[in-house]
Amino acid sequence: MNPFQYVRATKARAAIDARAADANAQFIAGGTNLLDLMKRGVMTPQRLIDINRLPFDRIERQGTGLRIGALALNSTTAEDRQVLERAPLLAQALNAGASAQLRNMATVGGNMLQRTRCPYFYDTALPCNKREPGSGCGALEGINRMHALFGFSDKCIAVHPSDMSVALAALDATVLVSGPKGERRLAFGDLHRLPGDTPERDTNLEPGELITAVEVPDSAFTRHVHYLKVRERASYAFALVSVAAALSLDGTTIKDARLALGGVAHKPWRLLDAEKSLIGKPATEAAFQEAARVAMQGAKAFKHNQYKLKLAPNAIVQALKNAASAA
Ligand code: SF4
Repeated sequence: MNPFQYVRATKARAAIDARAADANAQFIAGGTNLLDLMKRGVMTPQRLIDINRLPFDRIERQGTGLRIGALALNSTTAEDRQVLERAPLLAQALNAGASAQLRNMATVGGNMLQRTRCPYFYDTALPCNKREPGSGCGALEGINRMHALFGFSDKCIAVHPSDMSVALAALDATVLVSGPKGERRLAFGDLHRLPGDTPERDTNLEPGELITAVEVPDSAFTRHVHYLKVRERASYAFALVSVAAALSLDGTTIKDARLALGGVAHKPWRLLDAEKSLIGKPATEAAFQEAARVAMQGAKAFKHNQYKLKLAPNAIVQALKNAASAA
């Protein structure tokens, strides 16, 4: 690991100023991804700004929603009574992520900002445009069984690894950010980027910007929800495909629906057309199959991830069935 300087911030403004003044600095909170990246030489910050003492760990009602501080732990958030009552889809997605030990360390802000688990990104002997722009994409013609079906480019076909973010995308969350130019709010769908020609940029955050909280608006999606994660072992594995499904039912008729996929794109993949296809229909397998068909329009697989073309629609149907029957 490269030598680095460690500083502990006690004021948000000081942390933001220190980060903005030093292109080689990084914020650190739980460190559950950053430290792995540093040990492997993938990221080599010369300065770590520890933000754990900043007052951003509260989970509280605010206006017509829940405000979850960026430093709230994944485990605390998943067990919070208000989250369980008002956003059970988020709690399910959090509990599907990582392991209990990691959820006890990882923060909500860090979960959003974790980096892809593409193996070429983690091996500094191999080409990777995300780690080293212009070096090429090893996965494009290499082992790409974990990679994207949607929104990729010829520069990068990686997927975003966060489960929590898939639920936040489905729930229309908003990200609160503080930076050198002040505070701003981003729709959750605008936080993460598609790779395009600049896969080295995962998000639309500007240098020095710090996520302070995420807001989850109140919604009707408090009962008929399901987060389905398909992975290669029962825990501590990233999604091959995941589905965040939420239904608002009037009897057996679908009044409103939310759907998002994980493990298929460089960002959580919201399925707006598939959602529209469900509204007004009876909550039947035929309607769910049609939503899955709409959802998969435009999907394109690579040599080793063809299986996702079948797995993803099957997972969508199963997640919707589970959501419809949730008590
Ligand atoms: Fe790197 Fe992206 Fe290609 Fe993986 S898919 S090797 S992260 S450029």
